[in-house]
Formats: sequence, C-alpha cells, structure tokens
Amino acid sequence: MPFRELAGNRTVLGLLARAIDAGTLPPSLIFGGPEGVGKRHAALALAQALNCPTPIRAAPWPGAPSAPPLVIDACGTCATCSRIWREIHPDVIVIRPGETGNIPIRIVREKVLQEVGFKPFEARRRVVIFDGADGLQTDSQDALLKTLEEPPPGSVLVLVTAQPGQLLPTVRSRCPTVRFAPLATSAVIDWLMAHEGLAEPQARAVASIARGSLAAAREAASEAEGQEGCRAAAVRVLQQVSDAGDARGRLEATRDIVGKGKGSGASERDSLANHLHALAALLRDLAVLATRADVSAVVNVDLVPSLQSVARFFDRERILRAFTAVDRALGALERNASPKTVADWVVLQL
Ligand SMILES: [Zn+2]
Repeated sequence: MPFRELAGNRTVLGLLARAIDAGTLPPSLIFGGPEGVGKRHAALALAQALNCPTPIRAAPWPGAPSAPPLVIDACGTCATCSRIWREIHPDVIVIRPGETGNIPIRIVREKVLQEVGFKPFEARRRVVIFDGADGLQTDSQDALLKTLEEPPPGSVLVLVTAQPGQLLPTVRSRCPTVRFAPLATSAVIDWLMAHEGLAEPQARAVASIARGSLAAAREAASEAEGQEGCRAAAVRVLQQVSDAGDARGRLEATRDIVGKGKGSGASERDSLANHLHALAALLRDLAVLATRADVSAVVNVDLVPSLQSVARFFDRERILRAFTAVDRALGALERNASPKTVADWVVLQL
C-alpha cells in the first residue's frame, strides 16, 4: 500500500516522500507514535517508494484533492511493490519480537549485521524494519549502534515503536524520530468503511471509541456487538442519572457498566474501561447538541433521539463535570483501583 492509501498522518508521509525525492532521507529512523496509527504500514510504503521501478510523481491523495500531492510515491501495484507489501522481498527485512517479546541479539547479528554487509540482491535500497523495536534488548541495541550511526550505503533502518522511550538514549540520538499522531476520527471512519466493510453509522460508532487507532478500531469492529452493548449501556446510564437526584437510583446504573460479577478483576477492569470510553463519546456528542452546533458533528448519529431525550438535563457545566469524572475514573482504573468502587464513584459524579 503506497503512502497515498494510508490513513491519516498526511503531513508526515508527505515529508518522507519529499526526503526520498531529494535524497535527504536519514539512513536510520525511528517511527514513533501510538499503536495502530499506521507506523508499520508507513515503513513498508517507504520501502516501496524507495524501490518501486515505476513511481508516481505528484501523486494526489485519493478523496482529498485539495491536499498537496505527494512529491513521489510508489505505484503500489508492480511486482516489487506487491512483494514488499507481502513482506517477501529479499531486500526488505522485517524483524519482530518473538514469543518472549524480545528481539534477541542472535537475530540482530544474523539478520541485520551480516546482511547489511552485502549489497542488496535486487533493490536500490535495502530496508530493515524493526516492527516493535522496543523489543530490542540492551545488548541488541548496543550491537546495532554502529550500524545505526553509519549504515552501509544502500541500507535504511526503521525502528517502529509505540514506546520510543524504551530505546537507549544512544540509539535515539542516532535516529531522527518521525512522530505519527492518532488518526482523526474522520480518517478512522473512512478506513472502516473502505477496509472493514462497515456501514457509515456503524463505522462512526466504532470510530468514536477507537481513540484514533486503527488497531483499536479493528478490534472494536470485530467486537462490534460488544461495543453496541457498551454504547447501549452508556445510554442507559445517562438516562438513569439524568434526573435521578437520589444515590440509589444512580447506583443502579453501576450494574450496567461493570462486568456482571463474573470473570477476573482484569476483565471487569477492561469492561468498565470500554464502557467509560463509550460514555465519554456520548458526552462529547451531548456537548455538540448542547451548543446547538451542527448535528452532523455528532459521532453516534443513530443515537441522536436518545441523546436528545437526556440533553435537557445536561447543560455545559454538567457535561464538563461528567467528562472530568470519566477521565478521572479511567485514570483510577489504570492505577488499579477496584472497578466496582470506580463505577460507583463515577455514576455519583455524572
Ligand atoms: Zn511499484
């Protein structure tokens, strides 16, 4: 998949294309940013753009005619592009952590240090992609230092990681970091419709809880039913608390958002976190309705009637307060507070 077909991060991809075209691409790079925002795909697209025999100049972005075109991009369809994408090109090496979560020094020696000493088999530029570079142990990173600093001519090394902080400072100082941002909700919606075959209302609903990550979106889409459950429960909570002054009425809402007493604390925690994210997405929509902004900005379009029925109970202050409470509840969950306690607390704050 060439740059122009990736979701979001157009500015970053545009800069990479420009550097390739100008011959100024640093030979060692870190692709940093949250999970699921297209870092690995961008590394493969980079390998394609460096090696495609029939690249496209001034390639426009599909569906975004006003965005500045990419100076250069791979064709995406030739044999070279397709082998790179399927990770079966002899000169594009993708290295991932094994079952232990680590990339052992043996692999670094065999697959990288020895390989890069030779000329590429057929490519113009050999590309080594560490997909999950934070899995490189200290000795592996040390062994790579010299190669990162001065890769043999013709080789490009890309360290893909959601946790660049896990890399040694000596590694980070040798590799400029390309930062990938969470995707805009609209980019996630487009992607879900194009690649997961979701209808727009469903894509909007899934995207609203994906926090800009295609990985999270994909997971959510595959659990769409569970997510539907989360959204439905979040609506019920809002309805229950909207005019319930008494604590008991509110606390009844708690049962809806914590796992039903089955399973481990960890799964209760995940379940509550998903419900809280769904709740946050609904509050965001309520805020749109409260300011009488354009209803098309509402993400959970299919829930507008239900949202409108509770909107009169939620003025701006209450929405803000609720937002803050949900945010604090998520923080408390991360710090291992009991899911039941957090759920009880949050429904009393809404
Ligand atoms: Zn090509």
